[in-house]
Amino acid sequence: MMFNRVGYAALRGSRSVKVGNRQQNLHVVRTVEDMVAYHRQHIGVAKSLGFVPTMGALHAGHLSLVHKAKAENDQVAVSIFVNPKQFSAGEDLDKYPRQVEADLKLLREVGTDVVFLPELSTMYPSQSLCQVEAPAFNSILEGQARPEFFRGVATVVCKLFNIVNADRSYFGQKDISQCILVRRMVEDLNMRTKIVVCETMRDADGLAMSSRNAYLKPFEREKADILFKALSIGKALCEKKGMLSRESLSAEIMKVLKTEPLVTQVEYISIASHTDMKELSVANATNGVVLSSAIRLGAVRLIDNLLVGKAEKDILG
Ligand code: AMP
Repeated sequence: MMFNRVGYAALRGSRSVKVGNRQQNLHVVRTVEDMVAYHRQHIGVAKSLGFVPTMGALHAGHLSLVHKAKAENDQVAVSIFVNPKQFSAGEDLDKYPRQVEADLKLLREVGTDVVFLPELSTMYPSQSLCQVEAPAFNSILEGQARPEFFRGVATVVCKLFNIVNADRSYFGQKDISQCILVRRMVEDLNMRTKIVVCETMRDADGLAMSSRNAYLKPFEREKADILFKALSIGKALCEKKGMLSRESLSAEIMKVLKTEPLVTQVEYISIASHTDMKELSVANATNGVVLSSAIRLGAVRLIDNLLVGKAEKDILG
């Protein structure tokens, strides 16, 4: 079972709570049928719906997406679903932080209209015959260790899009390969929702906010800005030189990562195109570059990325 049943039973249906001096009614729906009915009753053709898919354990990064969705749509839907297919090798699905009550409180406070909170059996009721496949992603980044990873991401996002039926869907640049994959999926398969990518929210030292940061021990947290530092140095170099080989750029980033003894593994350093995440032999700021990396700090896996040159404008608008 993915979630605590007792907690969920108490959350069924919609509830009204007082937030500040305003009454915010948050609808919590758990089934596909209820989500479809919500759209029919509250959105229809007259109103617009913004959608923020999440795995919960919400932080300011997630909430920045909700704020943007609220500013651009009549209503906002957020989904909380811990997708088993999105876990890296060795990462324990059962240990992923789950704090549904606290998440709902935060979502009410920022004025979310509806939360889609499905159980595992709702999203994956039986052995399915069809999935969304992006073959070029099967052997890159997370896909190197787990060829099924991006298939899992694309499939669950496609299912959520079909269920929620939003006009615009909001994703964080933090997961840049997911953003690029989902944007291409929507284009290639003529999906109706528009993909909006929002910039990565960071702690004061530059560490990208992530639900997984909770795994860091205090002494590890102190050094966890190393990834942002290394990518920032790479980005500055790329912008200064305009063009440089992937070998030199990758070596510069690696050199910075190696200065931190707590970095136990550099899983990858990727220098890729922002249109399809294909690795580039030359980083050219004019054409646009995505610099990304995954490292282990102690046992904790951290990912981050920076957009260089044209990529920034094309992705973030
Ligand atoms: P997750 O719950 O980790 O699946 O994330 C849900 C959404 O929030 C994804 O689109 C993430 O890219 C986005 N997100 C996660 N962390 C951040 C962050 N630090 N800044 C902006 N968006 C984020």
